Amino acid sequence: VIAIRNLHKSYGALEVLKGVDITAPRGHVVSLIGSSGSGKSTLLRCCNLLEDSQQGEILFDGEPVLWKGEGHHRRPADPKQVLRIRTNLSMVFQQFNLWAHMTILQNVMEAPVTVLGRDRAEVEHAARGYLDKVGIGDKCDVFPAQLSGGQQQRAAIARALCMEPQALLFDEPTSALDPELEQEVVRVIKGLAEEGRTMLIVTHDMKMAADVSDHVVFLHQGLVEEEGAPGSLFGAPKSERLQGFLQSTV
Ligand code: ATP
Ligand code: MG
Repeated sequence: VIAIRNLHKSYGALEVLKGVDITAPRGHVVSLIGSSGSGKSTLLRCCNLLEDSQQGEILFDGEPVLWKGEGHHRRPADPKQVLRIRTNLSMVFQQFNLWAHMTILQNVMEAPVTVLGRDRAEVEHAARGYLDKVGIGDKCDVFPAQLSGGQQQRAAIARALCMEPQALLFDEPTSALDPELEQEVVRVIKGLAEEGRTMLIVTHDMKMAADVSDHVVFLHQGLVEEEGAPGSLFGAPKSERLQGFLQSTV
């Protein structure tokens, strides 16, 4: 369970998150939608401790990722605990951020071996399994530049899975891709949703959000404007802002 409570985040005078509450129960997929600049990426980055925030708390399975209180010193001081949180909440970015000088297999194996100190042979076995799972098991020995965008993003998903996270955070996983390549990534994400993985997905792809989510949250100017099951949120949006947003995305 990822529980975000009353999260506030500012960049200087710019208040980006103004008290956001989101719960992603274990095994559920929660999608975050909203206009550009509404704070979606910032929210994910706070969950992964890539950003500091000023107020509110985040709990993961009851363990504080960020605790209540104001000002600094809200995150765990122990680097091991930060590492554990980042391992448990593995993030997939819009730009896949693969290391260009490493093969696909090396990319997937790197963090489990060097950061988590896991056994190289075991990690290799697992990495090959995850690359198979995302449909690029034949690409282990090539370099990222030799793959299509959709294949690179699937490699990035395999890399996140190889950390054996308890939850996955996706930030616009398909927005850098051509429509035809987008579908192969959507299929992988759907498969993960069907396995009952806990996921928080920021997306501009309303069809994917409708297909894979248990719950959809519409952020507007740093606040949750409306949320609900995909059927009701997309089928019968209540807020005028959400209605306008959905019209602008078709
Ligand atoms: P998009 O759909 O375009 O990705 P978003 O909802 O993910 O948008 P964020 O990236 O979270 O939006 O940004 C929210 C606001 O915070 C924006 O106004 C942005 O300009 C600002 N912002 C983001 N990162 C920084 C930063 N490092 N320093 C200052 N301002 C920032
Ligand atoms: Mg963003």
